[in-house]
Amino acid sequence: MQVVDSVIGLRTRVKTWRSQNQIIAFVPTMGNLHQGHLSLVQKARELADKVVVSIFVNPLQFNDKSDLTNYPRTLQEDIHLLTELDCDLVFTPDDTVMYPQGMSLQTSVHVPGMDDKLCGLGRPGHFDGVATVVTKLFNMVQPDIAVFGEKDYQQLLLIRQLVHDLNIPVDIVGAPTHRESSGLAMSSRNNRLSDEERTQAALLHQQLQAIKAALENGETDLDALLNSAQTQLQENGFEPEYLELRKAQDLMLYQAGEKTAVRILIAARLGSVRLIDNILCDLA
Ligand code: AMP
Repeated sequence: MQVVDSVIGLRTRVKTWRSQNQIIAFVPTMGNLHQGHLSLVQKARELADKVVVSIFVNPLQFNDKSDLTNYPRTLQEDIHLLTELDCDLVFTPDDTVMYPQGMSLQTSVHVPGMDDKLCGLGRPGHFDGVATVVTKLFNMVQPDIAVFGEKDYQQLLLIRQLVHDLNIPVDIVGAPTHRESSGLAMSSRNNRLSDEERTQAALLHQQLQAIKAALENGETDLDALLNSAQTQLQENGFEPEYLELRKAQDLMLYQAGEKTAVRILIAARLGSVRLIDNILCDLA
């Protein structure tokens, strides 16, 4: 496995593979890799001849400075894990490689219809930062396929819209959320939970499952359903930011009785850590 930190080093290797008609799959990450990330790498391995993983903590997508400062950085461990998974190339640019003129002079990519809902409301500028870095990474790596986690469901839909609207020739593949045995969605931010908080955090997924079961049983009072889940979370130390039912296809609000696939999406703080999760409830 090769580790490169420059665009020129990356391009040299990718160019050789492309000239050999090798299919390239790409998994962008911010590092501190866990089994969730590794399941995306495994998926990429199944789909392509060559697998490229990027590790870059993108300052442009952090609206909260302390979240950026506290974001765990574990490059050597990450590289070790990727070696074991038979990854072909790890791209580890720093800020000066990604934003040589500084972030304020960087051309920005904006995907419409994301800032006014879910994580877009609580994290102003976040999705422009994601769209911009992913566009740059796609142009640098030039993959055939890119794999993203459903854990960040709004991000997955944003990337699908981005490649569609900008005619970027990359197939976007979504991969299921990897969970701890408690049901807690794996996340690099889980490391910042205390032991007690980590146990409590399982309630997030339990509430999503309870809402799903109620919907499948024909519950139509959606406000009551969501309010009761929010209350339970508050009583257990969470500060919910949103808990919503949205159509899985386009994230438009779901109305009771509609026969469609629904995503139940949540963001909540536990102590200083912001957690997100979502599950599918197919009511089609
Ligand atoms: P991040 O390093 O948090 O930017 O995540 C990199 C990629 O891993 C994104 O496509 C995420 O959606 C995905 N990811 C993060 N956590 C999980 C998880 N628990 N299961 C599956 N994919 C995940």
